[in-house]
Amino acid sequence: MIPFLDLKQPHQELREELRNAFEEVLNSGWFIQGHQLEAFEQEYAAYCGAKHCIGVGNGLDALHLILRAYEIGNGDEVIVPSNTYIATWLAVSYAGATPIPVEPDIHTYNINPELIEKAITNKTKAIMAVHLYGQPANMHEINKIATKYNLRVIEDAAQSQGAKYNGIATGGLGNAAGHSFYPGKNLGALGDGGAITTNDDELADKIRILRNYGSRVKYLNEVKGFNSRLDEIQAAFLRVKLKNLDEWNTRRKLIANYYIDSLKDLPIVLPVVPEWANPVWHLFVVRTKEREFIQKELELLGIGTVIHYPIPPHLQTAYTELGYSKGSFPIAEQIHDQVLSLPIGPHLTEQEAQLINKAMSDAFTRLCR
Ligand SMILES: *Cc1c(COP(=O)(O)O)cnc(C)c1O
Repeated sequence: MIPFLDLKQPHQELREELRNAFEEVLNSGWFIQGHQLEAFEQEYAAYCGAKHCIGVGNGLDALHLILRAYEIGNGDEVIVPSNTYIATWLAVSYAGATPIPVEPDIHTYNINPELIEKAITNKTKAIMAVHLYGQPANMHEINKIATKYNLRVIEDAAQSQGAKYNGIATGGLGNAAGHSFYPGKNLGALGDGGAITTNDDELADKIRILRNYGSRVKYLNEVKGFNSRLDEIQAAFLRVKLKNLDEWNTRRKLIANYYIDSLKDLPIVLPVVPEWANPVWHLFVVRTKEREFIQKELELLGIGTVIHYPIPPHLQTAYTELGYSKGSFPIAEQIHDQVLSLPIGPHLTEQEAQLINKAMSDAFTRLCR
């Protein structure tokens, strides 16, 4: 049995340190907005090469609060990739603005900068760039367009902790970035968590207030804020895990390189890494028209795979209001119809990777018979 993602082993490896972190918070008797959060915010800001980090309740809130703080809302438009997890779009909708989808590049699966300008109107306020599957988006081109049209650039860095664009970490490549610490992400908490990183002092200050009931001083509410905070206990766990992030990302990279090499003769499309990208392989995504067959064959051998994602946001019932239908975004639809994520993670062994490689070859051999 090879699960798609093993969340037990990583935490066994860090068991002692995580227990100590728990004891520390327990003994402190302080559970919200305290020393652990402050320390994590400093450490994570430094890791991302950003001036500020503000911990919040989850990744969706992180993106939503950035838009709120920039006062992007009713009547505004925000450019989003047509190929992403729905949270990117939901953040825009929560703020009251309209997500305007732009198709991805079929090779990198990230938003295609060449198609962005056509989607810009006089209502456009920002571009939300997602570093999907752990690979940085083409930030140089995106920033160039944003400068030309005076737009904000917001990074959705939920899947890209540690990834680099031309040597610069994601989370420090736009005006602000939203991060998720959902347990399955490269840097995952032991529950929900999220953060914003930015170099913008004013934005950071606004978000600090927004996350805590619109209040800087207790019982003094400057704006109608939210309750979206990163708990002390999660901040303490994240500090332990942040120390291991680079090593764990390196292990993911070894597996990804092994897959790229060992699967290259199969009739599948492998991930393409542009020369400026240093991805962190949150997911290892291959593309094939025979997805259903391959997934079943692997399942019979106890190998778990997942589809990221089966239905693009524009075809979800939640977004019927936007009036899109099948064919509205054919590249996103093709990706959603064909992608399959193979197991990858810091604790997948070389032996397991070899078994997966063999299972893939065997499946295609059976398919051709
Ligand atoms: C996980 C994820 C989010 C949302 O993060 P949560 O912490 O689950 O709210 C946003 N965008 C992308 C691309 C994600 O993968």
